[in-house]
Amino acid sequence: MKMPRDTRLTILERRRVKRGAREAEVAQERAREMAAAKRELAKRHVLVNPQNLRPTNSYGTPDFVKRGHYVDMPFNCKSCGVLQVWTEFQQKWWYESAKGDVWTKSVLCRNCRKREQARRAAAREVHLAGLAAKGKHEQ
Ligand SMILES: [Zn+2]
Repeated sequence: MKMPRDTRLTILERRRVKRGAREAEVAQERAREMAAAKRELAKRHVLVNPQNLRPTNSYGTPDFVKRGHYVDMPFNCKSCGVLQVWTEFQQKWWYESAKGDVWTKSVLCRNCRKREQARRAAAREVHLAGLAAKGKHEQ
């Protein structure tokens, strides 16, 4: 038996609405799962906030930005060779607060970094003292 055209249309319309509702439900469920996964990730890792990063002219995207969170990074100090871990928190501070270049990584251990900072400060002082002496000399 053939049903009237308008009845068939209402049935099709009802099915379409039902399908739409089901799809919306699935999408909502997926969004909930994504949010839960992100919360879970945030519990275990320090997340990257790309808005805080210093702009870069490079076309590439650093791994930690693609990944969306930081990972503790072991490395050997360039100066003394001791094994160090550059922690997720230190990375977040470096990239997002200190606005360090996104392509730079930690290369010196804490001690060597302090020593290097002190050495540079001393060199600067000598340099400035030299400039001051020169200025006096020329006057
Ligand atoms: Zn070192």
